[in-house]
Amino acid sequence: MPAELEAFAELIENSRSIVIFTGAGISTESGIPDFRSPGGLWEKNRPIEFSEFLQSEEARRESWRRKFAMEPVLSKAKPNKGHMAISSLYERGKIGAVITQNIDGLHQASGIRDEDVIEVHGNTTYAKCLDCGTRMEHTQVQEIFSNDETLPSCGDCGGIVKTATISFGQAMPVEEMRRASAAAMTCDLMLAIGSSLVVYPAADIPLMAKQGGAQLVILNREPTPLDDYADLVLNREIGETLAAVTKR
Ligand code: NAD
Ligand code: ZN
Repeated sequence: MPAELEAFAELIENSRSIVIFTGAGISTESGIPDFRSPGGLWEKNRPIEFSEFLQSEEARRESWRRKFAMEPVLSKAKPNKGHMAISSLYERGKIGAVITQNIDGLHQASGIRDEDVIEVHGNTTYAKCLDCGTRMEHTQVQEIFSNDETLPSCGDCGGIVKTATISFGQAMPVEEMRRASAAAMTCDLMLAIGSSLVVYPAADIPLMAKQGGAQLVILNREPTPLDDYADLVLNREIGETLAAVTKR
């Protein structure tokens, strides 16, 4: 095994409480495109900012069109080698929490208990009223929307309904961010996996771990702006790397 992978395995072995921080890169091997890689979602569609979603009915329609176009990909996606390597460490009691920017639910599907996955950018499996928080199922939204692209509205208060994900410009979920910070500050090893680490405030989380005295490993195909803070940087493919290291 290459020396840097040996070093990675040793850091894992010697730590008592690992916190994982994942981005879209861990799910590309499950067939879900990330934002910033060539061919990623960003090249196809500029993200719709939260303010546009609020202000423009056309932006809301476009956002539902994209949501329902992604649905077949998301519903078919299964956890890959990377997710499974993390869940095997979790089963061995090494992992305190998995903080994820992903909205695809694949960590939960890999066997991490719901209460140990902290979703800082929300979840794409249901929708919510932006005013009163009432939950609405996507099947119901799709039924309404398939009728001439009629926009859904809240049955309780008439408010705007949006998927339960966090858009650019939208406030972060307070409770999740509090839990994520607490987990980051108290771990002894933080693994940042498959994130370009440019989306804030989520990208602060690995830094909080450093400030709390933890060691930081960054595993990502390409360099990130936080590489200088890391104790170990691995520019490698996620699935095979995590599988090799957890086996070792
Ligand atoms: P990003 O697209 O900015 O960065 C992904 C990083 O992963 C890139 O640097 C890329 O080089 C790397 N990568 C991709 N596949 C890899 C692989 N197999 N091995 C190693 N590295 C790999 O993603 P981000 O940092 O998560 O930020 C984008 C935002 O988009 C997040 O907020 C997230 O909520 C959202 N998003 C989520 C999903 C999802 O739920 N699966 C998918 C796309 C975007
Ligand atoms: Zn409402």
